Amino acid sequence: MPKGAMGGAMPDIPDYLKRLKGGFKAFLSPPPEGVVRLTVGEPGFDTPKNIADAATTALMAGDTHYTRGEGREELCTAWASHLRSRWKIPVEDDGIVITPGAKQALLYAFMVAVQEGDEVILLAPCWPTHAEQVELVGGVPVFVRCGAPTFHPRVDMIREAITEKTSAIVINTPNNPTGAVYTPQEMIAIVELAIKHDLWIISDEIYTELIWNDTEYIAPASVLGGFERTLTVTGPSKTHAMTGWRIGVFAAPTSVAKVVGRLQGNTCSHIPSFLMPAAELAAKDWSSVEMFRGEYIRRKELMLDLLQQIPSLSASEPEGAFYVMVDVRQTGMDAATFAKRAMDEALVQVIPLDSLPGGEGYIRLSYAADDDVIREGIGRLRSWLAQ
Ligand code: PLP
Repeated sequence: MPKGAMGGAMPDIPDYLKRLKGGFKAFLSPPPEGVVRLTVGEPGFDTPKNIADAATTALMAGDTHYTRGEGREELCTAWASHLRSRWKIPVEDDGIVITPGAKQALLYAFMVAVQEGDEVILLAPCWPTHAEQVELVGGVPVFVRCGAPTFHPRVDMIREAITEKTSAIVINTPNNPTGAVYTPQEMIAIVELAIKHDLWIISDEIYTELIWNDTEYIAPASVLGGFERTLTVTGPSKTHAMTGWRIGVFAAPTSVAKVVGRLQGNTCSHIPSFLMPAAELAAKDWSSVEMFRGEYIRRKELMLDLLQQIPSLSASEPEGAFYVMVDVRQTGMDAATFAKRAMDEALVQVIPLDSLPGGEGYIRLSYAADDDVIREGIGRLRSWLAQ
């Protein structure tokens, strides 16, 4: 029995919670002063003022009471219309649940799609929270590696990984951490596999507005036969610079959304009432996203240009999101050693991906940071590695 802070005995906590890891958290905590952070996966912009105003106006008007758990009807309608018109997902207004962040919507999706002992296919390397949540609901993550340097999935490898226990496959494109944007052919092939083997698809679409090449994004729920088995997760966090607001969107066939509505009703009830008008406006106003897009493309080019000047680092051209995968093996270090030494010796914080299947030898850099941060950070890495 473990000892509490006062030295007394403390009741035990379940093993599955003891096993829960913190994802990238260890690398996202604010570093000591003077360290350049190339880690943070959030827009370096403020939330658009009209959206922030919608929340403060509602707060001052006393919009502080309990309300509909899934989110008010007008809010759910706004997101359903957006998903129908932008991505051709045939979701009904009642197929939407507005959640505290996309992360929570993902947890609901895994609770729906996974039963004790079920296997869930993750296209690796993947965002660590996907694997943690699979385990949290009693599932078993099965990693199918995507080949460097493009990190696109191989459909034959996915097919080989499917067993009688497989219940779901997770798609996250544009991908965190790889920046890969899966092609329409790849998406359709994955949906066809899911139909053939009667699998759920959990589609994490948080970065779909941030695609830098000319790949057309095809939502799995828009493919014939895909909607019935796809749990779509999205939200304004990345597109509207609203990461701290904790607003996410779960979209599914209405019968599933009703279950998730009850799940939310019995846990957090709903997102804060006075944030709902802002979340609704975000679904209708995408004007700021255009500006952000231009900035990200410029910052991506800047980071790639600077990285090219460091002979021992090799960067993959990201197709979307705001991350670059950098192969550090030519430095003679593994990624964990590289990250530790970069922090201690160059005062630059990066995320090593060694601990993620498929990420061995790679670090992830974020170009959501401002220009001067990117210049300073890559400049420091260059001088450090030249020594
Ligand atoms: N999905 C992916 C792939 C992410 O990278 C993130 C955040 O980094 C999220 C979901 C979480 O989004 P939210 O902040 O809305 O919970």
